[in-house]
Amino acid sequence: MRFAPSPTGELHVGGARTALFNWLFARKHGGAFILRFEDTDVERNRPELIEPILESLRWLGLDWDEGPYFQSQRLALYREYAERLLEEGRAYPCYCTPEELEAKRKRALAEKRTPLYDGTCRRLTPEEREALERQGRRPAVRIVAPKEGVTVVEDVVRGRVEFDNRELDDFIILRSDGRPTYNFAVVVDDHTMGITHVIRADEHLKNTPKQLLIYRALGATPPVFAHVPMVLAKDRTKLSKRHGATAVLEYRERGILPEALVNYLARLGWSHGDQEIFSREELIEKFSLEAIHPSPAIFDEEKLLWLNHHYIKTGDPRRLGRLVREFAVKKGFLSEEEAQGVGEERWARVVELFRERKRTLVELAEAAVPFVVPDPERVEYDEKAVATWLTPERAPLLQGLLGTLKDVPEAEWTAPQLEARIRAWLEAQGRQLKELAQPCRVAVTGTDRGPGLFETLEFLGKAQTLKRLERALQLVEKQP
Ligand code: GLU
Repeated sequence: MRFAPSPTGELHVGGARTALFNWLFARKHGGAFILRFEDTDVERNRPELIEPILESLRWLGLDWDEGPYFQSQRLALYREYAERLLEEGRAYPCYCTPEELEAKRKRALAEKRTPLYDGTCRRLTPEEREALERQGRRPAVRIVAPKEGVTVVEDVVRGRVEFDNRELDDFIILRSDGRPTYNFAVVVDDHTMGITHVIRADEHLKNTPKQLLIYRALGATPPVFAHVPMVLAKDRTKLSKRHGATAVLEYRERGILPEALVNYLARLGWSHGDQEIFSREELIEKFSLEAIHPSPAIFDEEKLLWLNHHYIKTGDPRRLGRLVREFAVKKGFLSEEEAQGVGEERWARVVELFRERKRTLVELAEAAVPFVVPDPERVEYDEKAVATWLTPERAPLLQGLLGTLKDVPEAEWTAPQLEARIRAWLEAQGRQLKELAQPCRVAVTGTDRGPGLFETLEFLGKAQTLKRLERALQLVEKQP
């Protein structure tokens, strides 16, 4: 199997799905997964994209067994194969200049014919060729194509697709500057790399008859083809930038977990009954080409978030904690020093506190910050929450709470023990928990949303809780 991106854009979700399908099939059947960059289009290549593409594959866990190969470094091989075809008479040199070809093309269009090469150089005698060489013309190499009949592509996904050979011309396989054309390089590579199955986007289906012709000329066995339908956006047009994030690394930035994206991409155009959640091992075990759907898949952002939430709810809290910590720093919510002071265990714990409610690592990081920030002065108070809950008439109650909490021994600073104490104290005052809960939550975290009050206090610990309450009481005094 191979994944053969052209480095002309970032790795987007459609490309990543192609890579994933190839990878799954290779892993399932004990094959090799080869990475190959198709970079012979000098004008459109962007070498600076190689590293981000590699990074995207690494992040998704799609490890390759061979490569990355670069077609630009394999030009001698394509030349060698073209020469073999020349010697065997399956290809011929073409001396037509770009100007001559353009004139022929214009004439064909004016006469409402498909502009196919007219075969001028196919009929040249050796003497004529020599004469043209003497003029200093450097030939391109054209393949000898059949002029009638059909070429049949037996595609695993699309079924039998017939192409009329009259649509095919003696197309160029090697340009006069020695660079291969796209279809030729693909076939020479797939053949020499021993590729047995090609899974690729179905925009390449139209290239397949040309590639089959090259296989035939080389006397080589073509691989099995599986052309996978496009990924569409919800509005049923081709998924593109204007629909939002499309690059794999953008999803990473947005706090999506790689296992969630892999699970999501696997289900994009492939299914196994109505199962939605698959571990990587299950995907390898259950993946098959036959279960790829022939109709386009629709990219559904909500479903990706739903899967991400699943993996956030069920993942190892320590690993998630490390990732949340990274985001907290990267997004500038905390300094590296602050994040370091928090400690692995507390990061894991804060994940547990929030994971029922948060769907991405960024949301988790945002929620975690007021809980973990060590300096009480760094707690940001939500203005609306303060105006609603930290009003002057609440000051006595909060003051009373502060006094009560001061008496709690460190060893008893657990959610159930705090609950018992606070409830007992409230009862003695003839007050109710609902009068205290929100003001207290705002006082110690700055917001009126979050996990249970007693869990929050337990997490913050005694010293931090008292400092934050004191600071909040100062705020109350400053209220109009
Ligand atoms: N280089 C092609 C692309 O990026 C893939 C060609 C293939 O898979 O055969 O679309």
